[in-house]
Amino acid sequence: MTPWPAREDIRITDLRVIVTAPEGVNLVVVRLDTSVPGLSGLGCATFHQRYDAVVSALTTHVRELVVGRSAADISDIGRLVHFSSYWRGGPVLNSALSGVDMALWDIAGKRAGMPVYELLGGRLRGDVPVYVHASGATVAETLDHAESLIAAGFSHVRLQTGQPGLGTYGAPGSRGAYPLAPYPDGWSVQHYLAQTPKLFAAARERLGDDVELLHDVHSRLTPKQAVVLARSLEPYRLFFLEDPVAPEHYDRLPEVRAASPVPIACGELAVSVPEAARLVSAGGVDLLRCHVSAIGGLTPARKLADLCELSGVQTAWHAPADVSPVGAAANLALDLTSPAFGIQEGHVYPDVVHEIFPGTPVVQAGYAQPSNAPGWGIELDEKLAAEHPPVVGGHERWAGTVRRPDGAIEAP
Ligand code: MG
Repeated sequence: MTPWPAREDIRITDLRVIVTAPEGVNLVVVRLDTSVPGLSGLGCATFHQRYDAVVSALTTHVRELVVGRSAADISDIGRLVHFSSYWRGGPVLNSALSGVDMALWDIAGKRAGMPVYELLGGRLRGDVPVYVHASGATVAETLDHAESLIAAGFSHVRLQTGQPGLGTYGAPGSRGAYPLAPYPDGWSVQHYLAQTPKLFAAARERLGDDVELLHDVHSRLTPKQAVVLARSLEPYRLFFLEDPVAPEHYDRLPEVRAASPVPIACGELAVSVPEAARLVSAGGVDLLRCHVSAIGGLTPARKLADLCELSGVQTAWHAPADVSPVGAAANLALDLTSPAFGIQEGHVYPDVVHEIFPGTPVVQAGYAQPSNAPGWGIELDEKLAAEHPPVVGGHERWAGTVRRPDGAIEAP
């Protein structure tokens, strides 16, 4: 139980896990109830691809550690959950930890009557600039999409384009070019390295210089190929080049970054705080972009943001559809309060998500707006959530079946 007397005797009375998939992506949310009627907290524990492993970790192992504890002991409970398995870290256990950590911050904010970003020191900026994704099977389709986003007020746009018979991460290829290919999502490094600079040349020509352009390699290059690509993109002034190499090769990132004329953003596949910290301390990144639930939640992410601030590195937290609105709110709390903020990945949640999670951050005209209610300012309608049960599969198609022309699986 608690190793010291609590200043206020507010105990955690229950831990439950809600999984809902309104967009076909499993959102895993922890709910902590307390001994104060009506006082509860929500935390993001989303790991879409292996959601049930996270649920099991939480309900079988973590619940008994936290029930009965004082809701005020965020740091101690986090260390307890982290160390209690002895072998710690990884996306399953860190997602479980994140769910507890964020739910405790939510409770702390509600107790104080303040949004979490005020507990962290208050705003350093107004609303948060976000980047969004433009994609298409052809360059023209991608730029059409980008133009519509710029017209809607977005100032930062990520561009991804497929080509005949060959996709890129985030963009399909047009079908029929390789009818005998024994794989559904072909990808060729040769074509990719040749085409990507053409995409950005066309983008600057058509979109002009007033928009920030980004690109996601999604881990598919060797370190030397990453340097070749980065140099080819120099004339187009990218805001950043994302995840140029796979996490298995993170130790080569310092040499990639040293040779790259464009900023390198990396880290969404980091699954421990030390791994993410080494990306910063070894000089491997210009922007750190972890998936906050995969590194254990707000508390460790805040430490990494401080490390970035002291190291001249910026943040760009990962946040497409596989982050729950609670996780998105945690990202915004970091963005609002850290001098290291660079940009935030933005996801425009559909109406159904706003109905399930009232208070979901709103993304419009290029900015994300957090709820200003206490805690995360987000509620969860469990009845509505249950109408969208979890799904199995889906992501495997791009994460596990992207194949080279010779049929070999490519790193996703
Ligand atoms: Mg990415």
